[in-house]
Amino acid sequence: QTKRKGGKGLRFFDRAMNTASVERLALEADLRHALVRNELRLFYQPLVRATDGAVVGAEALVRWQHPQQGLLTPDRFIPLADETGLITEVGSQVLFEACRQGKAWQDAGHAAFRVSVNVSAVQFGQPRLLETVSEALNASGFPPACLTLEITESSLMSDVESAAGMLRALKNMGVQVAVDDFGTGYSSLSYLKRLPIDVIKIDKSFVRDVSHDEEDAAIVRAIIVLARSLHLATVAEGVETREQEVMLRDERCDSFQGFRYGRPVPPESFPFLLQGVAD
Ligand code: C2E
Ligand code: MG
Ligand code: MG
Ligand code: MG
Repeated sequence: QTKRKGGKGLRFFDRAMNTASVERLALEADLRHALVRNELRLFYQPLVRATDGAVVGAEALVRWQHPQQGLLTPDRFIPLADETGLITEVGSQVLFEACRQGKAWQDAGHAAFRVSVNVSAVQFGQPRLLETVSEALNASGFPPACLTLEITESSLMSDVESAAGMLRALKNMGVQVAVDDFGTGYSSLSYLKRLPIDVIKIDKSFVRDVSHDEEDAAIVRAIIVLARSLHLATVAEGVETREQEVMLRDERCDSFQGFRYGRPVPPESFPFLLQGVAD
């Protein structure tokens, strides 16, 4: 009796496992097709200068227009792309398209417009990232100095020596490097002085309660002071309210990103001029 019950439980477990792996395999096959059928889309979110509210650039955020499942956000397929190696092709398509779009916007009159592109840990570990970046810049004519690559703290920390080599090579090409989701990795801060980094993006988990939680406010202040003394620029992620903006500006954070200024949108809807932000 007990044995049968256990057996049933096991079968149920097996079936659940199978469903998950079948779905995963299906999604992997779909992603391979997506790359050939050009189903990836880039959405853009404004990057706003703190001093005057000007839109100085955009972060490119990938989406997948899945034929059955609709528009998928990166959490649904970037981890899978990393595990299967498809990230190399995903990353290459993203870089080429972001540079092409950035150049088109610059040519349309938005001179010096900046574009940020996310690079996954797996991509960052691949030497061919350098070729891809350089080909994307050459093919588009987008100025290297206007491109920022966003790399998470944990990708930088997993192998600091090879990270240093990769970053130096990227710097030699003239692109900027930002540490994404800063404060969420368990890192020693010493890498900040050892690695050639330009920008720190303060993670939205600290920004969320910054106007009413003294501890989050203290962390954000400390990050901004640290960044300034190391000559790094700061971007606050996830800015949604006027109170957050006021606090961050008082602390002299350089730039803001968040729903307050605009959600990620397709390029044709990108807000170059913010019409006074509602409170
Ligand atoms: P991230 O680079 O930290 O991007 C910021 C995320 O926060 C985006 O989610 C954005 O939509 C969201 N966000 C922006 N402003 C606000 C706000 O005010 N409030 C809140 N609650 N959220 C806000 P998204 O687009 O779903 O992207 C999630 C993550 O996926 C990104 O985090 C990035 O790590 C990754 N990702 C996005 N595009 C790419 C890509 O092309 N390649 C790679 N490798 N990863 C990407
Ligand atoms: Mg990012
Ligand atoms: Mg981030
Ligand atoms: Mg993130």
